[in-house]
Amino acid sequence: MSSIGFDQRQGFIWLDGEFVEWSQARLHVLTHGLHYASTVYEGERVYGGKVFKLREHSERLYRSAQLMDFVIPFERAELEAASRELLQRNNVVDGYLRPVAWRGSEMISTSARFNRVHVAIACWQWPSYFDPAARMAGIRLKTAAWRRPPPDTSPFQAKASGHYQIATLSKHDAENHGYHDALMLDWRGHVAEATSANVFFANGRTLYTPTPDCFLDGITRQTVIELAQALDYQVVERTILPTELGDFEECFLTGTAAEITPVQSIDQHGYRPGNACRDFIAAYTQTVNA
Ligand code: PMP
Repeated sequence: MSSIGFDQRQGFIWLDGEFVEWSQARLHVLTHGLHYASTVYEGERVYGGKVFKLREHSERLYRSAQLMDFVIPFERAELEAASRELLQRNNVVDGYLRPVAWRGSEMISTSARFNRVHVAIACWQWPSYFDPAARMAGIRLKTAAWRRPPPDTSPFQAKASGHYQIATLSKHDAENHGYHDALMLDWRGHVAEATSANVFFANGRTLYTPTPDCFLDGITRQTVIELAQALDYQVVERTILPTELGDFEECFLTGTAAEITPVQSIDQHGYRPGNACRDFIAAYTQTVNA
């Protein structure tokens, strides 16, 4: 990743219907989305010029906004056309797209019902890091001190900025201790997910993954569950307890950015990335490039 800040790059950003110079895509400091986290966003990957599962991501963006009680003032087709044109204008073929929508600055109080909703889309080069051999080494996770909250404390199905405070805190703690990422438990103490990816475990041809009843049911997670059928793996969605972490042979994370990332350890529990990691990396690579 480049050492210059994300606000310093060249190219265009789509902002409220216009393609503006990257450095001019600015907002006011008294923005509701900044103070009160009334912000939703998406993370999308572009493979060979095509956005993988664009429809699913767009639909989730609108659903997230609805869950946060605001309406995105553009049609889905307009946003998708803007994304395509933006990719071309910025010459991004293998990269990442970041649509974001937030409440503006008309009111700066808890209530913001009449604040204008703004939308922006940015994109940048980010080739998929699919060197399978390097991936197979796996990453190391540390269990986070912060827990995913109960489902009646926030609209957890929304990809909303407010949910990321504990993810950032947990990831910082993991990185400060020499780990790559954190594994978050939920409020009951069940295994939930990583800070921005879902988690799967494998024994032979059976995958185990936590039931997404208080965290994001990721699009990549759903893709892996679909692929499992074709690959003749069984998928068991169930409660997974931390006391079971030593019972699995393999573990991997799934996410738009993470793709399929093998895990070599969680705290003191080691895993050996093997056939399941290899099979799903291969199948996912094929699917996103199809
Ligand atoms: N959980 C969280 C908290 C995330 O931020 C993400 C990334 N969007 C995921 C799971 C995986 O979701 P997806 O596969 O849709 O990218």
